[in-house]
Amino acid sequence: MNKLLADADICVKCGLCLPTCPTYLKTENENESPRGRIALIQAWAGGHLEDSKAVRTHVDNCLLCRECERVCPAVVPYSQLVDNFRSQFFVDKKSSVAASLLKEVAQHKTAQRLTQISLKLYQTTPLQKIARSLKLPKLVGLDKVERLLSHYYEPTELADYYPTTAECKGTVGLFIGCMGTLLDFATIEAAIKVLTAVGFNVAIPTQQTCCGALALHNGDSASVEKSASINSEAFGNQPLTAIVTIASGCGGQLQAYSQTEFADKVMDISQFLMQADCHLSEKLKPLAASVCLHTPCSLKNVMRAEQGALQLLQQIPELKVTKLSKAIVCCGSAGSYMLEHAAMAESILADLLNAAATTQANYLISSNIGCVLHIGAGLQERGITMEVLHPVVLIARQLK
Ligand code: SF4
Ligand code: SF4
Repeated sequence: MNKLLADADICVKCGLCLPTCPTYLKTENENESPRGRIALIQAWAGGHLEDSKAVRTHVDNCLLCRECERVCPAVVPYSQLVDNFRSQFFVDKKSSVAASLLKEVAQHKTAQRLTQISLKLYQTTPLQKIARSLKLPKLVGLDKVERLLSHYYEPTELADYYPTTAECKGTVGLFIGCMGTLLDFATIEAAIKVLTAVGFNVAIPTQQTCCGALALHNGDSASVEKSASINSEAFGNQPLTAIVTIASGCGGQLQAYSQTEFADKVMDISQFLMQADCHLSEKLKPLAASVCLHTPCSLKNVMRAEQGALQLLQQIPELKVTKLSKAIVCCGSAGSYMLEHAAMAESILADLLNAAATTQANYLISSNIGCVLHIGAGLQERGITMEVLHPVVLIARQLK
């Protein structure tokens, strides 16, 4: 409680953060702004406001996009404040069926294997078509998850080590995340292909587990501690040049671990490739196409590595790269937020899709799996033909 009060007291209530906040911009309600949420937490922690559903809901409606932190002159540790507040209520927090399922899959390897088998059966047989026509996903409360499933991509067994095919520059650890093998195997394969082609051995420790971001933002701080200890041990038993992430949502969480020897080595793959001095442009075929670049909040506001993806794409000869307008601050995915706050997530996404559609690009590029799935589903629902990819997938396709 003292920590909550101390962090909330840093806020000078200047309001500079309000124009950056997606939920405030959508609602024009001070309770849905960073300043308003801080005031609610401050009043509750100080004993001036009863705990109520309304207070918890206003704080739960925050995406934790951390745009507000970027502009705050007082440097309020906003996300820490919200995570701490949510952890006070974790024991009696009720989640939707979809969000509970997501958390289960994130934390347990057996659940991941079962999901993999179920996904294959569902997506490679007429089951999906039949279920959709009967509206079964909605009936069982899984329509928000089901809409995120793009075409099925068969994962292959991953080795724990891939030697470089070029002159060796070092060994990197690859963090694949809990959803990677299920929903984004193409990015894992691409990362291995590119890293080994430019001179890095790739180690993929099998003991690695979920980064813990989903748990933390739902107030489950004990699970995060467990994840941090498993991951730092998994990557700690060999000398690594860097620990490379292919989802900025995971990367930001890994960089926040208290195990600094591990955390300090974590880098987004685009940033890593640009700093590795590997003359990438000489190894890439030209691509006469255009891409619209989406920068995830976790890449920009948490990892602070937004330039990497842009610079990486600029290595592809002839490729035209257009960044989305600065006015688009978030896509609305925010981990399990798109499942638990679907209406707000959809409303925020609509602005991004309108902006993306005007670019008429061939590809939309994003460095975070959650954003890729949320944006991809939105584009598909609107009939907009634009392939959504992680930047490293496009780089892998262009390798000579
Ligand atoms: S910008 Fe910072 S100090 Fe100002 S109201 Fe927002 S959180 Fe408080
Ligand atoms: S983290 Fe994002 S959604 Fe939450 S208060 Fe800050 S700007 Fe608003």
